[in-house]
Amino acid sequence: MPDDDRVYSYSAVLMGSPILLKLFSHNEALAAKAFRLIKQYEDLLTVNRAHSQVMDINLAAGRHPVAVSRPVFELIRCAKAASLLENSAFNLAIGPLVKRWKIGFQGDSVPPADEITTLLTLTDPTEVVLDEAACSVFLARSGMEIDLGAIAKGYIADRVRDFLRKEGETLGLINLGGNIQTLGSPEGGWTVGIKKPFGAADALIGSLQIENKSVVTSGTYERYFERDGTRYHHILNPRTGYPLDNELDSVTIISMDSIDGDLWTTLVYGLGVEKGCAALRTRPDIEAVFVTKAREIVFSSMRHFHFTLLDNRYRLTG
Ligand code: FAD
Ligand code: MG
Ligand code: MG
Repeated sequence: MPDDDRVYSYSAVLMGSPILLKLFSHNEALAAKAFRLIKQYEDLLTVNRAHSQVMDINLAAGRHPVAVSRPVFELIRCAKAASLLENSAFNLAIGPLVKRWKIGFQGDSVPPADEITTLLTLTDPTEVVLDEAACSVFLARSGMEIDLGAIAKGYIADRVRDFLRKEGETLGLINLGGNIQTLGSPEGGWTVGIKKPFGAADALIGSLQIENKSVVTSGTYERYFERDGTRYHHILNPRTGYPLDNELDSVTIISMDSIDGDLWTTLVYGLGVEKGCAALRTRPDIEAVFVTKAREIVFSSMRHFHFTLLDNRYRLTG
């Protein structure tokens, strides 16, 4: 359905998330193909069902390697490398803790401290063993589980962008629920909102104008539960096994590839504002917008976007 006389929006629910595709042509067949592509990747990568290639690896933990398709292998290789960065907050082997906390799913609960300590022993990323020649993955210990929830949507958003480009589209926007990737740029660029943490669903604190870029936001307000006055959100500290606790409500990453955005939201979430900005000085292609609990908005740099403040209870600093 056209939003105005140029933009056509198509929607679906996949990966437990609302998916939105905007095209500048009326092409339902193309949108259906794009959704099918997302579904194919979901079927390979999900850990929310009994079977997928990632689940097959997890179910064989401690027993035998599992041969997977090349894209799954490459994504796991990339996720393992990111997990091994110094002081990385990202850990692809975080699965046992994610499954135990169940944050954002039915049956969430705060695990006893000794259980967390035990589960942490099953999250060593060096025990994810990759065999390049066999294109296989082996989890060395029984009970280990890979979880690509912090990176897979970014990877898939990039594949959809590539697909649309291959099909001859020059303009498009794909929103996988927190992960936005764009193809080309309409006049004036794309406008992408930054949500007000814990605000109404449509409340924005600012908007970004971007061209041909990905925008990924990760926040403590997305998936969480409250118990006895404490809020537990879904980004876990891989060293403690508890939700990451720092000054941040959300981080937005602007980058060319959405996989970088998805990964770096987690990396800088773990670092906080100061160390996050320092880390990004080595990556001028990746920029962050931090939103703190004290209602400050901090930019690591502003080379590839314009920002408009929409809520004057927030202050721009840094
Ligand atoms: P991000 O901040 O990008 O990622 C947070 C997620 O990463 C957590 O939910 C957890 O899964 C994982 N994680 C937590 N801490 C760490 C860490 N330290 N290092 C690495 N990873 C960490 N949701 C549903 O409700 N139902 C579904 O059926 C469903 N299916 C999905 C299928 C696929 C293929 C994918 C990619 C996601 C699916 N999801 C589903 C959503 C999923 O459960 C996560 O909530 C989602 O991927 C989180 O993405 P995000 O961008 O909101 O948060
Ligand atoms: Mg994500
Ligand atoms: Mg992420």
